[in-house]
Amino acid sequence: MTQYNNRPPVVQPESAQEIAPGIIVIPDQYINLVPNVGIVIGTDAVLVVESGMGIENGQRVLHKALEIAGSKPLLFTTTHFHPEHAFGTQVFKGHATIVTNTTQADELREKGVTYLNMFRSLGPNAHKALEGVELVMPDETYQGEKTIDLGGKQVVLRELTGGHTRGDQIIFLPHEQVLFTGDLVENHSFPIFADQDASPSRWIKELTSLMHLSPATVVPGHGKPGKVELVQEFQDLLIFVHEEVNRRIKEGQALALIDQEAARIIKEHYQDWGNDLWIPFEIRSMYAELTGTPLKLPAL
Ligand SMILES: [Zn+2]
Repeated sequence: MTQYNNRPPVVQPESAQEIAPGIIVIPDQYINLVPNVGIVIGTDAVLVVESGMGIENGQRVLHKALEIAGSKPLLFTTTHFHPEHAFGTQVFKGHATIVTNTTQADELREKGVTYLNMFRSLGPNAHKALEGVELVMPDETYQGEKTIDLGGKQVVLRELTGGHTRGDQIIFLPHEQVLFTGDLVENHSFPIFADQDASPSRWIKELTSLMHLSPATVVPGHGKPGKVELVQEFQDLLIFVHEEVNRRIKEGQALALIDQEAARIIKEHYQDWGNDLWIPFEIRSMYAELTGTPLKLPAL
């Protein structure tokens, strides 16, 4: 099984790697509640993608970004509002221009406090990381798509239709063919269906649109960066679970049996994937959408 682990969720800028000219990733080291963080360096400005969870992580990322940027202005964005990606944003206020898609900002406003409380209850490490967190809104928002020229580096911010959250955003560098997906793609970690607004069918479609970009390098939300195969594998898994749950619904199986049997088969087929705690969430999300019934997620 891929070795995702529950070490304290600390972003480690000292392990930063240049994955393409002028594009840095601070890898998550397979630590749960740490995202892959991106720093994109232009001749005129520098863009940071994701803050990490909480003030200390935000400061670590900001410090690294300032060291790289020198006197160049900083821009900052997040792939979606979830705490481990975005709840260190307050540190960037005043140091960077914070830009996100409008839907993501709306979602943060609407659900941010609920997520703060939910993640604080995940255990002492998460609680500690989230001490003093304040939710801050972006300085600028956009709808649809926004292209930023950092000087010799074009970056496309694009909002999608809402698969993992309602306000998913990807960051794409068309020239370098590098794609930051947030949690729309993970490297061998089961998809996180923790959000009431997650939609399996839209998620599957979003992954098709990501493959159409033909990225050479894919930086997933969690796990090691890879190639476009990461997107394909992730979509294959979603389709596999979708078909498995759909077939059982058509056979008239009760939800309790689907929970049990689909989970068993998914684990059997995806033995080397990490974070299988998310499997029941995925099954429930598929079930709710396929049957048009209210979503009942298991307790975290
Ligand atoms: Zn997420």
